Amino acid sequence: MAKERFEKPTGTQDVLPGAVEKWQYIEGKARELCHRFNYREIRTPMFEHTGLFERGVGETTDIVEGEMYTFKDKGDRDLALRPEGTAGVVRAYVQNKLYGEPDVSKLYYIGPMFRYERPQAGRYRQFHQFGIEAFGAVDPAIDAEVVSLGYQYCKDLGLSGVRVEINSVGNAPSRAAYREKLLGFLRPMKDTLCSDCQRRMERNPLRVLDCKKDQDKFVEAPSILDSLDEECTTHFEKVKEHLGAMGLEYTINPRLVRGLDYYTHTAFEYKAAGIGSIDTVGGGGRYNGLVEEIGGPDQPGIGFGIGLERILLILENQQVELEATKPLDVYFVGLGEAADIEISKQLFVLRNLGFSAERDYLGRKMKAQMKSADRMSARYTAILGEEELNNGVIALKSMATGEQQTVKLEELGQALL
Ligand code: ATP
Ligand code: MG
Repeated sequence: MAKERFEKPTGTQDVLPGAVEKWQYIEGKARELCHRFNYREIRTPMFEHTGLFERGVGETTDIVEGEMYTFKDKGDRDLALRPEGTAGVVRAYVQNKLYGEPDVSKLYYIGPMFRYERPQAGRYRQFHQFGIEAFGAVDPAIDAEVVSLGYQYCKDLGLSGVRVEINSVGNAPSRAAYREKLLGFLRPMKDTLCSDCQRRMERNPLRVLDCKKDQDKFVEAPSILDSLDEECTTHFEKVKEHLGAMGLEYTINPRLVRGLDYYTHTAFEYKAAGIGSIDTVGGGGRYNGLVEEIGGPDQPGIGFGIGLERILLILENQQVELEATKPLDVYFVGLGEAADIEISKQLFVLRNLGFSAERDYLGRKMKAQMKSADRMSARYTAILGEEELNNGVIALKSMATGEQQTVKLEELGQALL
């Protein structure tokens, strides 16, 4: 009887060779960019105590209200697979007392996140984010730096039509004033709103503006920018001035909010056309109250998270060719048993010299071996038959030009250079 076969869990993906090079490429670009901006990598656990996310992401968010993968471990602890990156990084920042360091902590992460959502294009249950967080500075220059890094990432990858939307959600007093104005606008339309919005309205009216179903109804909503006090207005003006100095184009979207109390000042999103109704590749904001909320000292922070599946999807839709293929330097074609042994030796030598090299392991005829070399986009084939072996040489053929030369076996590495 056939054994039971297993399939990957809904909403997950196998990244196979051929596709994985694209992942390596976009991850590499993120690392390289972070190095240029002097952000350093941090790796935190893939699961944390559930309470961290309840507190750090917020109880009225889609994530905490229903998207978390929670479980109890054998010690009866409540744990959750991380649904996003910020909470864990803030926890690590506090626990490892990074706030004690003299410089601003500029950190980045790349890794899988988990949310129980209905899978569709650009939406998975395991997906990947590239994100950054900067702790310890309130200077608007860092807001602009964070916004610009995410934008530059999209540009470096060759995405076109990337838009940056920014807003300020102010500080607590500004938001309290706005909350009243917003409720005045929302209450009369309460019955027309979706059930989530109706439920969230009194608890957290700013979250309502974030609703995907009711978006169109809020075009006339009061602007939070009119409720900002002087400190907030000045901060926002400065952020814009820094962005202007960089020549970075943005649009102001006064309906762009992050409805949690510890979000302050700058909020922003990156958008790109190319995946239908889902056009946001990432977003972020300042969270001056979050570190304290998670039990740390009163330290400001700001960051973003960008979804890598969405980046890849849009790159594909925009037909951007990534320089992601890694051709082989040389493929050995061998004929006969003696050649077989010599090739093992040559392979080992070349690989240690830093070349990528491959050979046939299936005892195939010359023609089939040449086809393999083609499939692997080998730059050269090195052909070793009985005659060459007897003369201590090997035939080196350029796959691009078809040109062939005979080189001494011990000079093969030199010839390839
Ligand atoms: P959305 O409005 O699409 O649900 P979100 O507001 O939940 O997004 P964030 O929590 O801000 O998204 O996450 C930042 C980015 O992470 C998103 O812009 C997106 O690119 C990516 N992302 C979020 N959820 C998923 C998912 N389930 N699958 C793939 N990518 C995701
Ligand atoms: Mg979501």
